Amino acid sequence: MSAAPVLVLVGPSGVGKGTVVAALKERFPDAWLSVSATTRSPRPGEVDGVHYFFLTAERFTELVEQGGMLEWAWVHETDRYGTPRGPVEDREAAGIPVILEIDLQGARQVRETKPDALFVFLAPPSEQELYQRLTGRGTETREQIERRLATAEIEMAAINEFDHVVVNDTIDSAVDQLAALMGLVH
Ligand code: 5GP
Repeated sequence: MSAAPVLVLVGPSGVGKGTVVAALKERFPDAWLSVSATTRSPRPGEVDGVHYFFLTAERFTELVEQGGMLEWAWVHETDRYGTPRGPVEDREAAGIPVILEIDLQGARQVRETKPDALFVFLAPPSEQELYQRLTGRGTETREQIERRLATAEIEMAAINEFDHVVVNDTIDSAVDQLAALMGLVH
């Protein structure tokens, strides 16, 4: 029996990763989405332990030093984000498909430790569309948008590092493609 897949999904901010992953989870409730840890503050409606584990800078450092992070990175130069190692390894041991929604730097680290994972880049239908989604979201300051655009440009330039590219044209077709890559069946 082949091991359950670990999907590492990367894509620029604004591409709709969250929406696609939520739709994937809805169709395949047995797949498990890792809850990341972050030092950034919760946005309105975000719940600790559900959307992220919101940690102090001190606690985050402590976890990293204890080897408790599978990967971690500074994202948008302001905050640290990381994948708690234990919960991922528990799911892997239990044969449960795992989804990691992380940034490019994190994906590069996972490639070192889990080369058999499925590295997928979620791309926007066009850069114009991405720009519109990023600037039109209305939840970020001008400065945050600028930073996200800069990060998006860096991430888009790394598209060739990925084993597969899925274009987020429609959510359904993106979910179909991801499910096929992961070998999930209804
Ligand atoms: P946001 O602050 O908008 O929720 O997320 C910002 C960025 O952090 C996204 O690009 C997302 O992929 C990245 N991110 C979220 N969780 C993790 C993680 O556990 N590790 C890494 N390396 N990046 C993460």
